[in-house]
Amino acid sequence: MPTLFEKIIAGELPATVLYRDARVIAFTDIRPAAPVHILIVPNKPIPTADDIADADESLIGHMFMVARDLARSQGIAQSGYRLIINCRGDGGQEVYHLHVHLLGGRPLGPLVSRAQS
Ligand code: AMP
Repeated sequence: MPTLFEKIIAGELPATVLYRDARVIAFTDIRPAAPVHILIVPNKPIPTADDIADADESLIGHMFMVARDLARSQGIAQSGYRLIINCRGDGGQEVYHLHVHLLGGRPLGPLVSRAQS
């Protein structure tokens, strides 16, 4: 079964696409958790961060360059932002196609709740 993100990459599901090239696509999150909430997704379906191969090193670096450039173009580079990759169950991953969340536009608070640490 293709993931939601594979359908977006294939153009079969609508999305607000802010950037795309031969290796990645970036689109706005459908349930934004901050004024800027963009997902940077490799076109190649890598399920989780744990599935990244050594050969993907340049692709992963490219995802971060795209995130950096989007932060600048969205006007949040100076105020600051957060990049998140959730992995599997305890990481809170919902869509099993690797993605970096770019969040910003307001103070984001602590990284995770320390209540149950
Ligand atoms: P994660 O929990 O890290 O797997 O994040 C998955 C993200 O995908 C969530 O923030 C969802 O709001 C977002 N999402 C799910 N479906 C769509 C969609 N069709 N378009 C854009 N974002 C989506």
